[in-house]
Amino acid sequence: MSARLTVDLAALERNIDHVRGLVAPAELMLVVKDDAYGHDVERVVPCAVARGITWIGAFDVATAAVVRRIAGDGIRIFVWVLPEGDDVTAAVAMDLDLGVGDAALLEDVAEVARTAGAVARVHLKIDTGLHRNGIRPEEWPAVVRRARALEQEGRIDVVGVWSHIAEASDAEDDAARALFDSAVDDAREAGLRPRLRHLAASAAGTARAEFRYDMVRVGAFCYGIAPAGGPDARALGVTPVATLTASVTAVTAESASVDIGMLDGLPSSLGGRVEVGTPGGPRRLLHVGETSSVEPWPGARAGDDVRIYGPGEWGETTATGLAEAIGTIGEEIAVRLSPGIPRENAETRPRLRA
Ligand SMILES: *Cc1c(COP(=O)(O)O)cnc(C)c1O
Repeated sequence: MSARLTVDLAALERNIDHVRGLVAPAELMLVVKDDAYGHDVERVVPCAVARGITWIGAFDVATAAVVRRIAGDGIRIFVWVLPEGDDVTAAVAMDLDLGVGDAALLEDVAEVARTAGAVARVHLKIDTGLHRNGIRPEEWPAVVRRARALEQEGRIDVVGVWSHIAEASDAEDDAARALFDSAVDDAREAGLRPRLRHLAASAAGTARAEFRYDMVRVGAFCYGIAPAGGPDARALGVTPVATLTASVTAVTAESASVDIGMLDGLPSSLGGRVEVGTPGGPRRLLHVGETSSVEPWPGARAGDDVRIYGPGEWGETTATGLAEAIGTIGEEIAVRLSPGIPRENAETRPRLRA
Protein backbone atom coordinates (compact mmCIF):
# COMPACT_ATOMS: atom_id res chain seq x y z
CA MET A 1 0.00 0.00 0.00
CA SER A 2 1.19 3.51 -0.61
CA ALA A 3 0.47 6.82 1.11
CA ARG A 4 -3.20 7.41 1.87
CA LEU A 5 -5.54 9.42 4.05
CA THR A 6 -8.04 7.24 5.86
CA VAL A 7 -11.29 9.00 6.74
CA ASP A 8 -13.20 7.55 9.67
CA LEU A 9 -16.81 8.45 8.96
CA ALA A 10 -18.01 6.85 12.19
CA ALA A 11 -15.75 9.28 14.06
CA LEU A 12 -17.14 12.15 11.99
CA GLU A 13 -20.67 11.11 12.98
CA ARG A 14 -19.75 10.97 16.64
CA ASN A 15 -18.07 14.36 16.47
CA ILE A 16 -21.09 15.88 14.76
CA ASP A 17 -23.38 14.43 17.43
CA HIS A 18 -21.12 15.71 20.18
CA VAL A 19 -20.71 19.24 18.81
CA ARG A 20 -24.42 19.46 18.01
CA GLY A 21 -25.19 18.51 21.61
CA LEU A 22 -22.82 21.20 22.88
CA VAL A 23 -24.23 24.03 20.78
CA ALA A 24 -27.94 23.09 21.01
CA PRO A 25 -30.44 24.64 20.79
CA ALA A 26 -28.38 26.65 18.32
CA GLU A 27 -28.15 25.07 14.89
CA LEU A 28 -24.89 23.42 13.79
CA MET A 29 -23.59 24.46 10.37
CA LEU A 30 -20.89 22.05 9.19
CA VAL A 31 -18.15 23.92 7.34
CA VAL A 32 -16.69 22.02 4.37
CA LYS A 33 -14.33 24.57 2.80
CA ASP A 34 -10.98 23.37 1.41
CA ASP A 35 -12.40 19.98 0.40
CA ALA A 36 -13.82 19.46 3.88
CA TYR A 37 -10.47 20.39 5.43
CA GLY A 38 -8.81 17.84 3.17
CA HIS A 39 -11.18 15.04 4.23
CA ASP A 40 -12.94 14.84 0.83
CA VAL A 41 -16.19 16.73 0.53
CA GLU A 42 -17.69 13.87 -1.52
CA ARG A 43 -17.35 11.56 1.47
CA VAL A 44 -18.11 14.04 4.23
CA VAL A 45 -21.31 15.60 2.94
CA PRO A 46 -23.39 12.42 2.45
CA CYS A 47 -22.34 11.23 5.89
CA ALA A 48 -23.19 14.58 7.53
CA VAL A 49 -26.56 14.80 5.82
CA ALA A 50 -27.41 11.24 6.84
CA ARG A 51 -26.53 12.30 10.38
CA GLY A 52 -29.12 15.07 10.22
CA ILE A 53 -27.00 18.08 9.31
CA THR A 54 -29.23 20.61 7.52
CA TRP A 55 -26.78 23.51 7.14
CA ILE A 56 -23.50 23.29 5.25
CA GLY A 57 -20.96 26.10 5.12
CA ALA A 58 -19.51 25.84 1.64
CA PHE A 59 -17.25 28.91 1.40
CA ASP A 60 -17.65 29.49 -2.36
CA VAL A 61 -20.05 28.75 -5.20
CA ALA A 62 -17.90 25.99 -6.71
CA THR A 63 -17.99 24.04 -3.44
CA ALA A 64 -21.69 24.82 -3.02
CA ALA A 65 -22.41 23.29 -6.44
CA VAL A 66 -20.78 20.05 -5.33
CA VAL A 67 -22.71 20.09 -2.05
CA ARG A 68 -26.02 20.78 -3.82
CA ARG A 69 -25.38 17.89 -6.23
CA ILE A 70 -24.64 15.50 -3.36
CA ALA A 71 -27.16 16.69 -0.80
CA GLY A 72 -30.09 17.78 -2.94
CA ASP A 73 -32.54 20.61 -2.33
CA GLY A 74 -33.44 19.93 1.29
CA ILE A 75 -30.19 21.38 2.62
CA ARG A 76 -29.33 25.02 3.30
CA ILE A 77 -25.95 25.93 1.89
CA PHE A 78 -24.16 29.06 3.05
CA VAL A 79 -21.50 30.75 0.89
CA TRP A 80 -19.53 33.78 1.97
CA VAL A 81 -16.96 34.28 -0.76
CA LEU A 82 -18.97 35.67 -3.59
CA PRO A 83 -17.23 37.66 -6.29
CA GLU A 84 -19.76 39.86 -8.10
CA GLY A 85 -20.98 38.63 -11.47
CA ASP A 86 -21.31 35.04 -12.63
CA ASP A 87 -20.93 33.61 -9.17
CA VAL A 88 -23.87 35.63 -7.88
CA THR A 89 -26.04 34.47 -10.77
CA ALA A 90 -25.11 30.85 -10.12
CA ALA A 91 -25.61 31.26 -6.37
CA VAL A 92 -29.12 32.66 -6.77
CA ALA A 93 -29.99 29.94 -9.29
CA MET A 94 -28.81 27.30 -6.82
CA ASP A 95 -30.92 28.81 -4.03
CA LEU A 96 -27.95 29.33 -1.74
CA ASP A 97 -27.80 31.40 1.43
CA LEU A 98 -25.57 34.32 0.60
CA GLY A 99 -23.15 35.92 3.03
CA VAL A 100 -23.00 39.54 1.89
CA GLY A 101 -20.22 41.71 3.29
CA ASP A 102 -20.35 44.84 1.17
CA ALA A 103 -22.86 47.31 -0.15
CA ALA A 104 -21.98 46.88 -3.83
CA LEU A 105 -22.45 43.13 -3.62
CA LEU A 106 -25.85 43.68 -2.01
CA GLU A 107 -26.92 45.71 -5.05
CA ASP A 108 -25.56 43.05 -7.36
CA VAL A 109 -27.45 40.30 -5.54
CA ALA A 110 -30.70 42.28 -5.70
CA GLU A 111 -30.20 42.95 -9.41
CA VAL A 112 -29.50 39.29 -10.16
CA ALA A 113 -32.60 38.28 -8.18
CA ARG A 114 -34.69 40.83 -10.10
CA THR A 115 -33.49 39.40 -13.42
CA ALA A 116 -34.07 35.83 -12.28
CA GLY A 117 -37.47 36.60 -10.77
CA ALA A 118 -36.16 35.16 -7.51
CA VAL A 119 -35.88 36.29 -3.92
CA ALA A 120 -32.27 35.97 -2.74
CA ARG A 121 -31.65 34.84 0.84
CA VAL A 122 -29.10 37.18 2.36
CA HIS A 123 -27.04 37.07 5.55
CA LEU A 124 -25.52 40.51 6.10
CA LYS A 125 -22.00 40.48 7.50
CA ILE A 126 -20.89 43.11 9.97
CA ASP A 127 -17.13 43.58 10.31
CA THR A 128 -16.54 43.06 14.01
CA GLY A 129 -12.80 43.60 13.84
CA LEU A 130 -11.18 40.94 11.66
CA HIS A 131 -11.30 43.24 8.60
CA ARG A 132 -11.67 40.28 6.27
CA ASN A 133 -14.61 41.65 4.37
CA GLY A 134 -17.73 42.64 6.20
CA ILE A 135 -19.65 45.89 6.30
CA ARG A 136 -17.84 48.45 8.45
CA PRO A 137 -19.77 49.63 11.52
CA GLU A 138 -19.89 53.20 10.20
CA GLU A 139 -21.56 52.06 6.97
CA TRP A 140 -23.85 49.52 8.62
CA PRO A 141 -26.89 51.71 9.41
CA ALA A 142 -27.17 52.88 5.80
CA VAL A 143 -26.68 49.35 4.44
CA VAL A 144 -29.40 47.84 6.62
CA ARG A 145 -31.82 50.60 5.55
CA ARG A 146 -30.99 49.88 1.93
CA ALA A 147 -31.41 46.13 2.54
CA ARG A 148 -34.84 46.79 4.03
CA ALA A 149 -35.83 48.75 0.91
CA LEU A 150 -34.67 45.88 -1.34
CA GLU A 151 -36.62 43.50 0.84
CA GLN A 152 -39.76 45.60 0.40
CA GLU A 153 -39.20 45.47 -3.36
CA GLY A 154 -39.32 41.68 -3.01
CA ARG A 155 -35.75 41.10 -4.25
CA ILE A 156 -34.03 39.83 -1.14
CA ASP A 157 -34.94 38.29 2.19
CA VAL A 158 -32.49 39.20 4.93
CA VAL A 159 -32.63 35.98 6.90
CA GLY A 160 -29.42 36.46 8.84
CA VAL A 161 -26.81 38.74 10.37
CA TRP A 162 -23.38 37.25 10.90
CA SER A 163 -19.71 37.87 11.50
CA HIS A 164 -16.47 35.98 12.03
CA ILE A 165 -14.25 36.37 15.08
CA ALA A 166 -10.61 35.56 15.79
CA GLU A 167 -11.26 33.23 18.75
CA ALA A 168 -7.74 34.08 19.89
CA SER A 169 -8.60 35.99 23.05
CA ASP A 170 -11.79 36.21 25.10
CA ALA A 171 -11.47 39.98 25.46
CA GLU A 172 -11.29 40.57 21.70
CA ASP A 173 -14.14 38.16 21.11
CA ASP A 174 -16.24 39.97 23.73
CA ALA A 175 -15.61 43.30 22.01
CA ALA A 176 -16.63 41.73 18.69
CA ARG A 177 -19.79 40.36 20.29
CA ALA A 178 -20.80 43.80 21.62
CA LEU A 179 -20.41 45.22 18.11
CA PHE A 180 -22.40 42.31 16.71
CA ASP A 181 -25.26 42.85 19.15
CA SER A 182 -25.53 46.50 18.27
CA ALA A 183 -25.49 45.64 14.55
CA VAL A 184 -28.41 43.25 15.09
CA ASP A 185 -30.26 46.02 16.95
CA ASP A 186 -29.65 48.43 14.06
CA ALA A 187 -30.93 45.83 11.59
CA ARG A 188 -34.12 45.38 13.58
CA GLU A 189 -34.58 49.12 13.88
CA ALA A 190 -34.35 49.33 10.10
CA GLY A 191 -37.24 46.87 9.91
CA LEU A 192 -35.22 43.73 9.09
CA ARG A 193 -36.10 40.47 10.84
CA PRO A 194 -32.91 38.38 10.82
CA ARG A 195 -33.86 34.92 12.15
CA LEU A 196 -30.34 33.57 12.03
CA ARG A 197 -27.63 35.34 13.96
CA HIS A 198 -24.29 33.53 13.70
CA LEU A 199 -20.93 34.62 15.01
CA ALA A 200 -18.85 31.74 16.35
CA ALA A 201 -16.82 28.85 14.94
CA SER A 202 -15.40 25.79 16.75
CA ALA A 203 -13.71 27.37 19.74
CA ALA A 204 -16.07 30.10 20.98
CA GLY A 205 -19.12 28.18 19.77
CA THR A 206 -18.41 25.17 21.95
CA ALA A 207 -16.82 26.91 24.94
CA ARG A 208 -18.94 30.03 25.34
CA ALA A 209 -22.74 29.79 25.33
CA GLU A 210 -23.27 33.51 24.75
CA PHE A 211 -21.56 33.21 21.37
CA ARG A 212 -23.95 30.63 19.94
CA TYR A 213 -26.96 32.78 19.05
CA ASP A 214 -29.03 30.86 16.48
CA MET A 215 -26.28 28.97 14.69
CA VAL A 216 -22.62 28.02 15.07
CA ARG A 217 -20.36 27.40 12.05
CA VAL A 218 -18.02 24.52 12.87
CA GLY A 219 -15.27 22.94 10.83
CA ALA A 220 -12.22 21.96 12.88
CA PHE A 221 -13.87 20.28 15.87
CA CYS A 222 -16.19 18.19 13.69
CA TYR A 223 -13.08 16.80 11.98
CA GLY A 224 -11.50 16.19 15.37
CA ILE A 225 -8.86 18.88 14.86
CA ALA A 226 -8.04 20.52 18.19
CA PRO A 227 -6.75 24.09 18.50
CA ALA A 228 -2.96 24.51 18.62
CA GLY A 229 -1.87 25.19 22.18
CA GLY A 230 -5.33 24.42 23.54
CA PRO A 231 -7.18 21.41 24.93
CA ASP A 232 -6.61 18.20 22.97
CA ALA A 233 -9.27 16.33 21.04
CA ARG A 234 -10.04 13.98 23.90
CA ALA A 235 -10.61 16.87 26.31
CA LEU A 236 -12.94 18.39 23.73
CA GLY A 237 -14.85 15.12 23.41
CA VAL A 238 -14.02 14.58 19.75
CA THR A 239 -11.87 12.10 17.80
CA PRO A 240 -9.54 12.90 14.89
CA VAL A 241 -11.31 11.76 11.71
CA ALA A 242 -8.28 11.48 9.42
CA THR A 243 -5.27 9.23 9.60
CA LEU A 244 -2.34 9.85 7.27
CA THR A 245 -0.33 6.73 6.57
CA ALA A 246 2.74 6.29 4.38
CA SER A 247 4.62 3.15 3.35
CA VAL A 248 8.26 2.35 3.83
CA THR A 249 10.04 2.10 0.50
CA ALA A 250 13.60 1.33 1.63
CA VAL A 251 15.50 0.80 4.87
CA THR A 252 19.11 1.48 5.79
CA ALA A 253 20.82 1.41 9.18
CA GLU A 254 20.14 5.14 9.55
CA SER A 255 16.72 5.64 8.07
CA ALA A 256 13.51 4.23 6.68
CA SER A 257 12.36 6.09 3.57
CA VAL A 258 8.62 6.65 3.21
CA ASP A 259 6.59 7.50 0.14
CA ILE A 260 5.20 10.84 1.19
CA GLY A 261 6.82 14.23 1.38
CA MET A 262 6.90 17.90 0.57
CA LEU A 263 5.41 17.37 -2.90
CA ASP A 264 2.37 15.83 -1.22
CA GLY A 265 1.90 18.87 1.00
CA LEU A 266 3.79 17.79 4.08
CA PRO A 267 5.67 20.84 5.40
CA SER A 268 9.43 20.29 5.06
CA SER A 269 9.93 22.11 8.36
CA LEU A 270 8.55 19.03 10.14
CA GLY A 271 11.83 17.22 9.42
CA GLY A 272 13.62 16.55 12.71
CA ARG A 273 10.89 18.17 14.77
CA VAL A 274 8.24 15.49 15.40
CA GLU A 275 7.75 11.81 16.04
CA VAL A 276 5.46 9.63 13.98
CA GLY A 277 3.89 6.24 14.68
CA THR A 278 5.68 3.10 13.49
CA PRO A 279 5.25 -0.63 14.18
CA GLY A 280 8.25 -0.23 16.53
CA GLY A 281 6.66 2.67 18.41
CA PRO A 282 7.14 6.41 18.01
CA ARG A 283 10.15 7.35 15.87
CA ARG A 284 11.58 10.67 14.79
CA LEU A 285 10.61 12.01 11.39
CA LEU A 286 14.12 12.72 10.12
CA HIS A 287 13.57 14.57 6.89
CA VAL A 288 10.73 15.79 4.69
CA GLY A 289 11.63 16.40 1.07
CA GLU A 290 10.59 14.83 -2.20
CA THR A 291 10.38 11.69 -0.15
CA SER A 292 10.75 11.57 3.59
CA SER A 293 12.58 9.45 6.10
CA VAL A 294 11.99 8.19 9.57
CA GLU A 295 14.33 6.88 12.24
CA PRO A 296 14.27 3.07 11.75
CA TRP A 297 13.03 0.50 14.24
CA PRO A 298 14.16 -3.10 14.71
CA GLY A 299 12.86 -5.26 11.87
CA ALA A 300 11.76 -2.32 9.73
CA ARG A 301 11.30 -3.28 6.10
CA ALA A 302 9.89 -2.05 2.85
CA GLY A 303 6.10 -2.26 2.84
CA ASP A 304 5.69 -1.41 6.54
CA ASP A 305 3.27 1.36 7.39
CA VAL A 306 4.22 4.58 9.13
CA ARG A 307 1.47 6.71 10.61
CA ILE A 308 2.26 10.38 10.05
CA TYR A 309 -0.75 11.46 12.09
CA GLY A 310 -4.00 10.01 13.35
CA PRO A 311 -5.23 8.04 16.33
CA GLY A 312 -4.12 4.48 16.95
CA GLU A 313 -2.05 2.12 19.01
CA TRP A 314 1.32 3.47 17.83
CA GLY A 315 1.23 6.51 20.07
CA GLU A 316 -0.46 9.88 19.86
CA THR A 317 0.36 11.86 16.77
CA THR A 318 -2.18 14.40 15.62
CA ALA A 319 -2.35 17.01 12.88
CA THR A 320 -2.45 19.58 15.68
CA GLY A 321 0.63 18.05 17.31
CA LEU A 322 2.58 18.34 14.05
CA ALA A 323 1.29 21.87 13.62
CA GLU A 324 2.39 22.93 17.09
CA ALA A 325 5.94 21.74 16.36
CA ILE A 326 6.21 24.19 13.46
CA GLY A 327 4.13 27.06 14.82
CA THR A 328 0.98 26.61 12.78
CA ILE A 329 -2.52 25.14 13.29
CA GLY A 330 -3.88 21.65 12.64
CA GLU A 331 -6.19 22.87 9.89
CA GLU A 332 -3.14 24.02 7.94
CA ILE A 333 -1.61 20.53 8.05
CA ALA A 334 -4.94 18.97 7.03
CA VAL A 335 -5.76 21.26 4.11
CA ARG A 336 -2.24 21.30 2.63
CA LEU A 337 -2.32 17.58 1.95
CA SER A 338 -2.31 17.09 -1.80
CA PRO A 339 -5.54 15.91 -3.45
CA GLY A 340 -3.25 13.39 -5.17
CA ILE A 341 -3.03 11.41 -1.93
CA PRO A 342 -5.96 8.99 -2.15
CA ARG A 343 -8.69 9.26 0.46
CA GLU A 344 -10.27 6.05 1.64
CA ASN A 345 -12.89 5.12 4.19
CA ALA A 346 -11.81 3.47 7.41
CA GLU A 347 -13.21 -0.03 7.64
CA THR A 348 -15.87 0.18 10.27
CA ARG A 349 -17.61 -3.12 9.74
CA PRO A 350 -16.55 -6.44 8.22
CA ARG A 351 -17.13 -6.73 4.51
CA LEU A 352 -19.53 -9.43 3.39
CA ARG A 353 -18.08 -12.00 1.05
CA ALA A 354 -19.68 -12.25 -2.35
C1 LIG B 1 -13.45 28.31 8.41
C2 LIG B 1 -14.60 29.07 8.92
C3 LIG B 1 -15.38 28.58 9.97
C4 LIG B 1 -15.05 27.32 10.73
O1 LIG B 1 -13.97 27.55 11.58
P1 LIG B 1 -13.42 26.36 12.54
O2 LIG B 1 -12.54 27.06 13.50
O3 LIG B 1 -12.73 25.40 11.66
O4 LIG B 1 -14.61 25.75 13.20
C5 LIG B 1 -16.49 29.31 10.34
N1 LIG B 1 -16.82 30.46 9.71
C6 LIG B 1 -16.08 30.96 8.71
C7 LIG B 1 -16.50 32.24 8.07
C8 LIG B 1 -14.95 30.29 8.28
O5 LIG B 1 -14.21 30.80 7.30
